[in-house]
Amino acid sequence: MRILVLSDIHANLEALETCLAAAPPFDRVFNLGDLVGYGANPGEVIDRSREIGTVFVRGNHDKACAGVSSLEDFNPIAALAVRWTQKQLTPEHMEFLRALPKGPIEPEPGIQCVHGSVSDEDHYLLNGYEAFKILESTEIPITVFGHTHVQGGFRGDPANDNWGTITPDYRTRPRAEEHTLKLLKGVRYLLNPGSVGQPRDGDPRAAFALVDTDAAIFTFHRIPYDIAAAQKKIRDAGLPDRLAARLAEGH
Ligand code: ZN
Repeated sequence: MRILVLSDIHANLEALETCLAAAPPFDRVFNLGDLVGYGANPGEVIDRSREIGTVFVRGNHDKACAGVSSLEDFNPIAALAVRWTQKQLTPEHMEFLRALPKGPIEPEPGIQCVHGSVSDEDHYLLNGYEAFKILESTEIPITVFGHTHVQGGFRGDPANDNWGTITPDYRTRPRAEEHTLKLLKGVRYLLNPGSVGQPRDGDPRAAFALVDTDAAIFTFHRIPYDIAAAQKKIRDAGLPDRLAARLAEGH
């Protein structure tokens, strides 16, 4: 089974289409949430995501746009983007967002999906100590998560008291690159495919991942896309300039 893992597309259709064109063949898609918010094509991204897969967990922006949660925890720019997004979506889009399930879900035995973290869907999982506690307490070998927009993750082998972080080491910036991780027996993993549509790890290339369960391989991918086109749409829509500028910075 080959599973394409997408997260934090954030209404960036250019980035999504580029990832789909670059992705190796896959059988299923796991979408870790935040389909909308920040970018200029929320409806198109929802439609395209539904075409390619049926497995979703909801993100904080999906919840806010659907009215499932309030805008209290959103900064002014994010809140403005939510209000703009709500005006672009059809009632069917809104209903789809409202019905998205809360993580964790386990759509494939041995792989669970969350947006933020396992016990709190809105939590930013960046801290190794927290990650190792989760890995110590779970029996599920692979947890895929998003929300931080940082590609990489954590591994833990409780039986051998062996713990570590995972950071793809890439050589070049302007090209497509991949980083392969061999999944070892007895080791548990927390893996973040990175953000398709608004990377924040200093690398502006769109990010995604692919799990091959038969080969026991998890591959991180980065792919350059037409950032200028996504930026122009954001500016033409009258969304805050910061949302366009940050795509080129990868922050
Ligand atoms: Zn996000």
